[in-house]
Amino acid sequence: MTERELSASDKAIRQRITELSVHIPCGGLRGPQPTWRWQSCRCEDNPQKWEGYDVSRAKDLCIICFRDTAGGPSKWAWLACEHCRQVNTAIEQRSGEQPFSLGRHSLMSGIGLRGEVPAEVLDQQIAKLVAFARGDGRLRTWRDSEYRSLAAAFDPLGDIPLPVWQQQWVPGPDASWDAFARLLGFSLPLEVDAGGDREVGGSQ
Ligand SMILES: [Zn+2]
Ligand SMILES: [Zn+2]
Repeated sequence: MTERELSASDKAIRQRITELSVHIPCGGLRGPQPTWRWQSCRCEDNPQKWEGYDVSRAKDLCIICFRDTAGGPSKWAWLACEHCRQVNTAIEQRSGEQPFSLGRHSLMSGIGLRGEVPAEVLDQQIAKLVAFARGDGRLRTWRDSEYRSLAAAFDPLGDIPLPVWQQQWVPGPDASWDAFARLLGFSLPLEVDAGGDREVGGSQ
């Protein structure tokens, strides 16, 4: 897209925002990008499209903690930050169940069709794919409450530079465990330390 095709409002946004920022109304990151010049959020009149990429975004806030960043321009990007993915895996190792599918592509969570399987297994695989495609309702509800409560610290119409956001809402293992605890309904601190032996569930 050339500069001339930008609306007056989009042009003004690109002049005003000088670093990647959280657009408070939508929670999307937007701002200048070293490689692609501009990352849009969905609120702009003509969001910037990046030729040759699955998604025109270099990063976004993690869909669990909303503090660290995740995502990327590939369909194989993780939508949760490193810390939240570690917690997701730790809980899966303890419980045998993966709490959330955190990849943009279903295969990243082992959801896909494998050939040469009995019909009932194929049915299960299809059911999981359909559920994945519908999205995780828990995470939509979570976003409504968690992102909104973090965003309430700032101007409701503002664009908050990512470092300012993260100074207020510091990412890290503790924040990720806290987010999972509230999201899944278990309490912290857990009995055992994070070294892989953390208890998850109702035993405390
Ligand atoms: Zn926006
Ligand atoms: Zn996270």
